[in-house]
Parts: sequence; structure tokens; C-alpha cells
Amino acid sequence: MITRVVKAVGDPVADRKVMEEAAGIIKAGGLVAIPTETVYGLAGNALDPASAKRIYAAKGRPSDNPLIVHIARLEDIDTIAGDIPEEAYKLAERFWPGPLTMIFHKKDIVPRETTGGLETVAVRFPVNKIAQEFILASGGFIAAPSANVSGRPSCTTAAHCMEDLDGRVEMIIDGGEVGIGLESTIVDMTVKPPCILRQGYINTQMLKEVLDGIDRAEGEATAKEHPKAPGMKYRHYAPKGRLTIVRGNTEGVANEINRLVRERERDGYITAVIAAHENKDRYEGAIVKDIGSLRDEDMIAHRLFAVLRELDDAGVEYIYSESFDTPRLGEAIMDRLLRASGNSIHEIKEEC
Ligand code: AMP
Ligand code: MG
Repeated sequence: MITRVVKAVGDPVADRKVMEEAAGIIKAGGLVAIPTETVYGLAGNALDPASAKRIYAAKGRPSDNPLIVHIARLEDIDTIAGDIPEEAYKLAERFWPGPLTMIFHKKDIVPRETTGGLETVAVRFPVNKIAQEFILASGGFIAAPSANVSGRPSCTTAAHCMEDLDGRVEMIIDGGEVGIGLESTIVDMTVKPPCILRQGYINTQMLKEVLDGIDRAEGEATAKEHPKAPGMKYRHYAPKGRLTIVRGNTEGVANEINRLVRERERDGYITAVIAAHENKDRYEGAIVKDIGSLRDEDMIAHRLFAVLRELDDAGVEYIYSESFDTPRLGEAIMDRLLRASGNSIHEIKEEC
């Protein structure tokens, strides 16, 4: 299959031809990678079991890891979801369109192939204009997991999609770099109180401002046996090199990372460090990736997946990362980084 990359700008008039073509592919059961405000998505018709199967095959994703259904009109949730609680409308009013996914009981129109066999369906209404045009043109219900091959860092540019999906999808819509760079926050609305299953750009505090009782899933980052969100048990976001997070006071972290780098370099390995802008000059002997300033956590979130992919391109075998426990997005950033490392975290004890 030849994968065509076409540009779109988010203007319905300028994008008309692209959207017609993309919609034709979706309606014929094909796949299109699309930009959203979070990460690029791998889109197919959510109401067609065969399209869902194709998505799993293209991503190499286990078929019990459910897909998120994307809509572009609030009223469309009634077509695919039932028993929608009042709280969901409160969250929708504040955060939709935007990077929030809500889980509801599914209606029969949604095939089990899309929901990974579950009786529930995850729904999101993205704010990205290109995504909205595409969803509406393509029939209104689009299953779109992140566009990366299963296990790899998510795609934040069309070039990343091409790396992972060339020959596996009919089209990639290039809408430039995504804005946020982290996947949506997922909240399960089928339980009382609603429960946060995945951290994202909309953090716990923001959700609590709307729904005070909202809860966090216990041990969400490590729940391997009985995860609330099925995808959590799978390896995620992983670079090819072995990633270790080192956490503690700035100087202790730098000393320990420099020691680990010296050790690996002595054995002939290619090493890299992921560091905050403020700390980048503390490191020596390795490739140093400046991920952004600690004062600009949006930038750190935005750069995270791209940095992991750049380290893959450089053939790095061992990666040491600082910890980025920033106030607003720290939860989400560290969730992704921890999973990318396979929970490999090295705590530096404060010296007494
Ligand atoms: P991705 O599409 O890569 O952003 O990941 C989608 C994730 O959403 C899955 O891995 C699940 O963790 C979660 N998810 C989707 N649908 C459901 C559902 N019905 N119930 C619980 N979690 C879901
Ligand atoms: Mg994903």
C-alpha cells in the first residue's frame, strides 16, 4: 500500500479536497492518520468491526486494548453511549472540545471490536479543527488510538506517523506539530464517583474543580494484573534504548547520572541524558537532550515523545532522565516517562 501524506490547515474551504478524499478512504473501510491537539491518531470508522480490526493490525496492538471513539458534535454521544450521568455534561461543558476522554456504557451500534470486547465505550471530542473537519466528513464516529506502532512513543508530527505507519495506512494528514503532545486524560463515568484512569493535560485539580468527588484509580501507573483501563498492562511509549529515571536533589541526580554514563561509556555503549534546560550543563560524556525549562512545563510535555524518538534515531542504548515533577503537568509527564522506562526509577537519598 502506498501511504500518501497530504497537508491540511484547519480551514474547511482550503481543506475541502483533502477531507473529501480522507472521508472516502474511511467510508471504504480504510485508515487515515490525523492530527489532534494531543497526539496524532490512527483513524478508522468506529462503527465498522472490519475497520477496527484493521486499526489493531496496523498498530500491532493487542485486540483487547480498546480504542477511543472521537466525535465532533456533543449530541453525538447519545448515539453511541447510554446512561450518561449528569456529571458527564458538567465535565463536557468545561473541557469539551478538548483533551478529555470519558467512558460510558456502550450502545449496540458500537461493535465490540472497537471497544476491545468491553461493554463500555471511551469517547472524546477533540478541539483540533482538522480533526473536527475530518470526523464530520467521515460520518461522525472515528476510532482513533495514538498513531504509533504499539509500544512506541506516540507521534507528535506527521513525520513520526510516516516512520511507524508507512505502507500500513492509506493517508497521513499533516497538520504540523501537535499542540499538547500528551494523550488525553481518561475518566471512567460508569462508576461513582467518576474515576481518573489516565493522567493527561487536564489534571486532577482541574477535574476536581468541576467534580469535587472525582477519584484517582489506585496505583494506576503500575496496575498490571487488573488494570481499570485495559491498555495499562501493556508496555508503552518505549524508546529502543533502556531508559532509567533518576530522582532526587539536583546535584545528587547529576552526580549519579554522570557516574552511570561513565560506566556505560566504558563498556562501549551509546548513552544519553534527558535534562531540564536549567541542568543541561551539569552532564558530560553523553548526548544531552535539553527537554525544556522547568518553568515551561507545557514545553516539556510537548517535547517528551519527540525527544524519545530522536534518541532512537541516534542509536542510543542507555538513556538516563531527570524526573520532571512540575506542578501542573508533572503527574502526566511522569506517568508517560515511568511507563516508557518500564517503571525503572532510581531514587537518590538525601545525604544527612
Ligand atoms: P490510546 O488510544 O493509545 O490513547 O489508548 C487508548 C486507551 O484508552 C486504552 O489503552 C485504554 O487504556 C483506554 N480505554 C479506551 N476505551 C476504554 C474503555 N472502554 N474502558 C476503559 N479504558 C478504555
Ligand atoms: Mg497510545
